[in-house]
Amino acid sequence: MLQQSNQDSITISDSNGISTTIHFKNIVEWINEGIFCVNADGKILYANEQYCRNLGYSRTELVGQSITKFFYSEKYVKISLQKLELRKKGLSDVYEIKMRRKNGDAIWVRVNGKPIFDSNGKFVCSVGIHIDITKQKELEEELIHAKEDLEAKVIARTRELSETNQKLNQQIKEKRIAEISLVHSEKRFRDIYLNSPDAIYVESMEGVILDVNDATCRLHRSTEKELIGKTIYQLSPPALHDIIRERQPKIVSGEIRKFESECITEDGTILPIEISVAPIRYKDNPALLMHVRDVSDRKKHQNLLQELNEALEEKVKQRTKEIEDARTEIEKQKNFLSQIIDASPGLIFVKDTDGRYLLINQTMADYHHVKKDEMVGRTDEFFQFRESDLKRYRDQDDQVIQNGNQIIFPEQPFLNKDTGEVTWLSVVKKVIPSLDGDSVNVLGVATDVTAIKKAKEDIAISEQLYREIARNLPKAAMFIFNKEMRYILAEGPLVGIISRRKEEIEGKTIYETMPESDYSGIEEMYQQILKGNTKEFEQVLYGRTLRIHHIPIRNAEGEIIYGMVMTFDVTDLTTTQQELLKRNDDLKRSNEELERFAYVASHDLQGPLRTIASYLQLLELRNRGKLDKESNEFIDFSIKGAKRLQAVIQDLLTYAKISSTPKPFASVDMNTIAEVVLKNLESTIQTSGARIELGSLPIVIGDALQLTQVLQNLIDNGMKFVKDRTPVISVNSTENDQEWEISVSDNGIGIREDFKEHIFKIFQRLHTESEYTGTGVGLAICKKIVHLHGGKIWLDSVPEQGTTFHFTIAKKPREADSNHL
Ligand code: ADP
Repeated sequence: MLQQSNQDSITISDSNGISTTIHFKNIVEWINEGIFCVNADGKILYANEQYCRNLGYSRTELVGQSITKFFYSEKYVKISLQKLELRKKGLSDVYEIKMRRKNGDAIWVRVNGKPIFDSNGKFVCSVGIHIDITKQKELEEELIHAKEDLEAKVIARTRELSETNQKLNQQIKEKRIAEISLVHSEKRFRDIYLNSPDAIYVESMEGVILDVNDATCRLHRSTEKELIGKTIYQLSPPALHDIIRERQPKIVSGEIRKFESECITEDGTILPIEISVAPIRYKDNPALLMHVRDVSDRKKHQNLLQELNEALEEKVKQRTKEIEDARTEIEKQKNFLSQIIDASPGLIFVKDTDGRYLLINQTMADYHHVKKDEMVGRTDEFFQFRESDLKRYRDQDDQVIQNGNQIIFPEQPFLNKDTGEVTWLSVVKKVIPSLDGDSVNVLGVATDVTAIKKAKEDIAISEQLYREIARNLPKAAMFIFNKEMRYILAEGPLVGIISRRKEEIEGKTIYETMPESDYSGIEEMYQQILKGNTKEFEQVLYGRTLRIHHIPIRNAEGEIIYGMVMTFDVTDLTTTQQELLKRNDDLKRSNEELERFAYVASHDLQGPLRTIASYLQLLELRNRGKLDKESNEFIDFSIKGAKRLQAVIQDLLTYAKISSTPKPFASVDMNTIAEVVLKNLESTIQTSGARIELGSLPIVIGDALQLTQVLQNLIDNGMKFVKDRTPVISVNSTENDQEWEISVSDNGIGIREDFKEHIFKIFQRLHTESEYTGTGVGLAICKKIVHLHGGKIWLDSVPEQGTTFHFTIAKKPREADSNHL
């Protein structure tokens, strides 16, 4: 079967090939409603003008489309498809369905659908009449809504009515109850009014009493009759009338509802009262209901309370004063303690367990250059200590807190960042309870032990020094002990030989190291040393000669702190000394022998020499002019040689005689000696034209002849060793405790530095005989004589300018130095 359709007709071919064309135009002519036709698949085959208008589409837009596209929702699509199925089964019916217009509006349509079958009874299409029933539907909906509203309103109104009804019933009920209770309450009020223990009365707004109860009568000691008609002024003490006058309008206006006042009774008693006011209507007029209470008791109690209060206040004041006084006292004590703490030379501080300072004393503040108060609440970090020091202090605090006991931290180094100096503190830390008692604090007291430490180190150094000295002293022993008689040092090669071993002595007292029989004597001896007595003596012990020195050891302040016994083994020294003495004796002897020999030799040589000289001179006299020139010269040389030899021997004899013919010393006036010398040298002085200046000279102890020799030699030399100038000699003297010093100055040729010692030796001369005559013995004689007088001789000289010889004479003559050669 072939189906063809266009906009106006539909052609259907049956199985026999016969086609049927249906022209809708014809149908539309007689139906003036929307017409449409769908095939078995629901596709629109035809839609007339009205149908198109209903949906708002053009026919072209509709034909060929599935009709399901135009329903309002799925619900209506479903209905439509069900209807199509019914059509296919040959059923026609009318139904209402909701569709959607092109502009989106809903349109309600009533569809009258019919199926169309071909001649073979096969379903061709479904034709429907489409009537727009939107308006009708809207009316229906409005009607439904209106009906629903009405129903709701009826329900609500019914509910309101029943509620109002209920309320009305309730009000009626309450009114009835109120009426009943009013009757009761008025009665009750009257009962209360009449029987109240408090006075109650009614007064007019002007203060006239209108009604009273029994209690009012009792209060005023009056009858009802007497009271009614009176004014409140009459019932009050006159002193209050002004107040009442001022107060009454306020009571009337309701400003005052409660107040205190006084009333006066019939017998004139004045009672304190408390009044509460309420405005009422009394016999249809406004009035005041006054509720009066006698507050005498309360006043009494109040007064009592007042008194008690005052007493209490007094006590509180007193107690406060006591507390204040106590506080002042505490403050005073605190200041006092604070002063003591500040005055302490030690650094005192208190820290909490977090290391925060609660207190430091002035000494500590000064030590760290901080202010006392600024440290409160701060930690050690504030001091900017080295990290290592901070940690050490923290650890120490922790240790003390954990340990709970006092701990001493000796010699803690402290670096002063400003000066770079390290000082040493000995710190004692202790746990103390905190002021609030809930925790603990760390109390610390630090003492600067730098000086002690240094002193200790100094002692250690000096001990080491002593030890080293003693160790290196040959054959010596050193024992140092303190005031407790305890040996602090035993050192030296002799320790262990003349005493116990070092280990058995050091650190022990004398009482521990020796038997009582020994130590009593030693103790006395040591005590003497500690008192400052030095002693030096020899003692033979174990076949050795020991030289023992007792020496007190003092500190820098001069106090004796230790005693020392130094022992030297002088056995060998003594032997050597004895040998030396012996040798000295031998030498002295040989010297004396030599001097004797020189004396004897020069003495004995003098005779023959004199003979030789005399004969030579005789020979010269006899043969003058007879001998040739050369022979005369020989004789001349011989005479000169003999004379010189004579002079040398003479001087040597003088030299030898000095000690071989000793004379006892006597007081010698050097001024006299000087005069003798000038006399002796008179001719030389005159020849040379010398000027001799004599200063004041002392009186000395000595040998006059010998001292004459010394002075004469020096003045003579002074005149002799001059070149191209007139000799000027000055003799002067000085003195000190021990000796006199005499000096002889000249203006001569001077003596070179390197000859200053040399010229004092015998026969030592700096010039030839032809330059300056002499034997070279004079100064040797001077030196020997000066030595015999316990003095010394030396010179200062400036070459070409002059020489000054100095010699001294001991004020206390000592034994002559025999070793003078
Ligand atoms: P003499 O005078 O017999 O030579 P002395 O013993 O008196 O012997 O002196 C030794 C030497 O010291 C002298 O020869 C001389 O060279 C030197 N001398 C001594 N006195 C002086 C003096 N006043 N000035 C310079 N030289 C001096």
